[in-house]
Amino acid sequence: MEIQVKNISKIYGTKESRVIALDSASMTIKEGDFISIMGPSGSGKSTLLHIISGVDHPTSGMVLYGNTDIHKGSDKEMSAFRRQKIGFIFQQFHLLPVLTARENIIMPLLLDKQKVEEDYLQKLATLLGLENRLSHLPYELSGGQQQRVAIARALIARPDIIFADEPTGNLDSKSGGEVMKMLCQIRKQMNKTLVVITHDSRIAQMAEHRFTIIDGKLSEVNAS
Ligand code: ADP
Ligand code: MG
Repeated sequence: MEIQVKNISKIYGTKESRVIALDSASMTIKEGDFISIMGPSGSGKSTLLHIISGVDHPTSGMVLYGNTDIHKGSDKEMSAFRRQKIGFIFQQFHLLPVLTARENIIMPLLLDKQKVEEDYLQKLATLLGLENRLSHLPYELSGGQQQRVAIARALIARPDIIFADEPTGNLDSKSGGEVMKMLCQIRKQMNKTLVVITHDSRIAQMAEHRFTIIDGKLSEVNAS
């Protein structure tokens, strides 16, 4: 499914506290694309991702998945859509500390009353080098391992699209590199659409299509 982002603006606050977080951002995300969006802190990256994924609403503009404007649906429809179609990866991992790696990974299925497909879970664990870590609690895992658990959780419900918001931002460069390498391999193998936000130019360059965002203005970096 193609995603069309059309002239999205987001304004927070009013009067003196008014912030234009996004200024008429437009982009097209085709099925299977690998896209990176790079920009400094406060440039509107997370705001853009939240609006593309339907977590937050734009002040103006629209986001079409196929022919459907996702911001026209009810909150309930939007959250069901996100659970089934989209996987999220965050800078801070957001694992639940009292649950094991396995329990964290299958959480999206439990929330959606879906059965666990053991073969698929094992396949993800193997691809992410977590075979021997599934019964560990997050604090028993390294940062890179925790982020790999979060990647498995993002993939467990077989979404078409993965959104990652600075997935290596909390990792040293070696484990960040490993995490990105695995994410890229899985995305290719499973033919997922991947949108990665980063302020690391080496990671941005791994993508097929690169965008930059500065002061809420999004633009595509010309392919050389
Ligand atoms: P980035 O992810 O690139 O660091 P954000 O999208 O988080 O940037 O933020 C873009 C701008 O919008 C920043 O100036 C930020 O302070 C502001 N902003 C983000 N969220 C809110 C909010 N809920 N209320 C007010 N301002 C916000
Ligand atoms: Mg951010």
